[in-house]
Amino acid sequence: MNIDLHCHSTVSDGQLAPEQLIRHAAEAGISHLALTDHDSIDGLPAAAQAASQAGLHLISGVEMSCDWDGRSLHVVGLNFDPDNPALRRHLHSVQQQRRERAAQISHKLAQAGLPDALAGARVVAGHDQITRTHFAAWLVQAGHCKDTKQAFKRYLAAGKPGAVKSQWPSMTDSLACIAQAGGVTVLAHPLRYNMTAAWRQRMLAAFAAAGGHALEVSAGASQKPDDIHQCAQLAREHGLLASQGSDFHSLEQRWIPYGRLAPLPSDLIPVWQHFV
Ligand code: AMP
Ligand code: MN
Ligand code: MN
Ligand code: MN
Repeated sequence: MNIDLHCHSTVSDGQLAPEQLIRHAAEAGISHLALTDHDSIDGLPAAAQAASQAGLHLISGVEMSCDWDGRSLHVVGLNFDPDNPALRRHLHSVQQQRRERAAQISHKLAQAGLPDALAGARVVAGHDQITRTHFAAWLVQAGHCKDTKQAFKRYLAAGKPGAVKSQWPSMTDSLACIAQAGGVTVLAHPLRYNMTAAWRQRMLAAFAAAGGHALEVSAGASQKPDDIHQCAQLAREHGLLASQGSDFHSLEQRWIPYGRLAPLPSDLIPVWQHFV
């Protein structure tokens, strides 16, 4: 078994269309994959069809943008019913917020001397579910920045000229939404929220108290070698199950290494125990 429970397609800010992503994952040796686009499950039907052809087991997934204490967090929902009406309403409402936020980001970039960002980001995305990744790609294409990293650092990161304070649904509501659709919830990349260790402890306590199930412990290339131990310890301290996922977005960031994430420490209980 080779499991990856976090990745993106063109439905959000990934480079590969859902069916291309599935073929690529199968070639990389992945047996169980969750497609977890930002705030959208629109890629699941095409992914399911490609998965049955490729002999890969697809798990329904979504990476939800949510708010905890004024900060934006990412919660991965897994193995839910994609036809659940309340979940679909929730995601449509976040998608509307994304459209409004994209217009605001574009307005702020124009004020900073960079006009037409929204039109540019729409061309990059090919749809109107715009993420900051699409703005970053446009900033590079238009020659305003040398790479994505610089685009975030100069314009899109918190406190920069193109930053907009997001009003995502609360973490509590987002967790409840996945739970009532029959799924489980994973707090994604716990070390990437730019917070002190004390705040991280508060975040994890709040996540567990609100019914969150698991912590993303193994994340492949996006982790430094020691991060997995730190995440494992956080899962133990807060009584959370453990998940693993590459957060794959593009081929430049290969499926590393060849579709094999570092194994979870053996004392942790995998979040997939009931559905894989
Ligand atoms: P959004 O959900 O629209 O705020 O966009 C968040 C996405 O932007 C993340 O999922 C990452 O894919 C990407 N991102 C955030 N920060 C950075 C960064 N510093 N460098 C590159 N990509 C980033
Ligand atoms: Mn992303
Ligand atoms: Mn994320
Ligand atoms: Mn992600």
